[in-house]
Amino acid sequence: MKEILIAGAGFSGSVVARILAEKGYKVTIHEQRSTIGGNAFDENINGIISQKYGPHIFHTSSKEVVDFLSKYTEWFEYKHSVKGKIDGKLVPIPFNLTSLETLFDNKSSNHIKDVLFKEIGLGKKVPVMQLRRHKDKEIQKFGDYVFNKVFYNYTLKQWDMEPTELNPTIMERVPVNVSYQDMYFPNDLYQVMPKFGFTPMFEKMLDHPNIKVILNSNILDILTFEKNNIYLNGKLFKGEVIFTGCIDELFNYKYGKLPYRTLDFEFETHNTTSYQEASVVNYPNEEAYTRISEFSKFTCSPIENYSIIVKEYPRAHKIGDIPYYPIEIKENILLYEKYLELAKRYTNLHLLGRLANYKYINMDLAVLNAINLAKSL
Ligand code: UDP
Repeated sequence: MKEILIAGAGFSGSVVARILAEKGYKVTIHEQRSTIGGNAFDENINGIISQKYGPHIFHTSSKEVVDFLSKYTEWFEYKHSVKGKIDGKLVPIPFNLTSLETLFDNKSSNHIKDVLFKEIGLGKKVPVMQLRRHKDKEIQKFGDYVFNKVFYNYTLKQWDMEPTELNPTIMERVPVNVSYQDMYFPNDLYQVMPKFGFTPMFEKMLDHPNIKVILNSNILDILTFEKNNIYLNGKLFKGEVIFTGCIDELFNYKYGKLPYRTLDFEFETHNTTSYQEASVVNYPNEEAYTRISEFSKFTCSPIENYSIIVKEYPRAHKIGDIPYYPIEIKENILLYEKYLELAKRYTNLHLLGRLANYKYINMDLAVLNAINLAKSL
């Protein structure tokens, strides 16, 4: 039976493990943490499903992804919406016509709406940078307003970079809506959350006679990479290795450390049934944190006089911190590509997931990539 070694029991590692196990491979997953599910790990604390590594909201348009995950969980519908605190007022994010009407007086908001309808069109979604570059001066001014109030400081906190330095697709994740539409993921056909949390879904996925999960284990302690071959405990390993961790760590930072952003989380419990108006409230400007998430709102199941919230403080990642976001700018991608060249020497090494592929991807794409890798093996 062909052997598969996997580093990491997050979405990527767990999905590929399950499919290969069903194909008859013998799969061993080494997971550095004492838990499975990667950053989607959650736990039931007094009836609230609390997400230890910050808010993870599942959404996708891929039927293949939903069909796969549905073997391991039931779902409930959850349509995510976010508010942002701007000038002391809570307004929908993505910025929409309700946000406009809340922050401007009647006369001004009616005027801006008229211009937006004429120049952009009712119902359209536009990247903020596109508004700022628009030929119409008033649209430009409106774009600058939204940029300054919603994006500029948030992006500085999140990335420690000017928005113009970032890959434009990052801010395009959150467009401006010329409508009253207030969902965060309006285009996704499936906006659902696992009924009992992500962790039970992972437990079921990994529960297979061909899968062995070793927790608190760093695969790099037992693997060595030499002369185009991979060695397991000093012996030539002829199976496949699927690595979902950081590629710079895999090669012992040979070319230097790849930059990531990490997050510090501040959890709080409150004696209140509802702490805030939305499951996620963004704080683009004054506060040091970027957002506050309230977990009972993700499951739409408030508990009387009890709520758990988490504040997120982004900062630069150091070795030993948890990497959350790759920073996909040119110089980092070039560095990543040097590591990739090194990885290509090992024909039985496969890189998978947000960290190993150095790509800011959502959970659904992580699942799809894992399904595709499993198919290709
Ligand atoms: N963003 C922002 N203000 C907001 C929300 C998002 O400036 O209120 C920008 C910011 O640069 C962020 C990016 O848009 O990193 C993507 O936001 P998203 O909510 O998708 O981030 P994630 O949930 O993946 O952290």
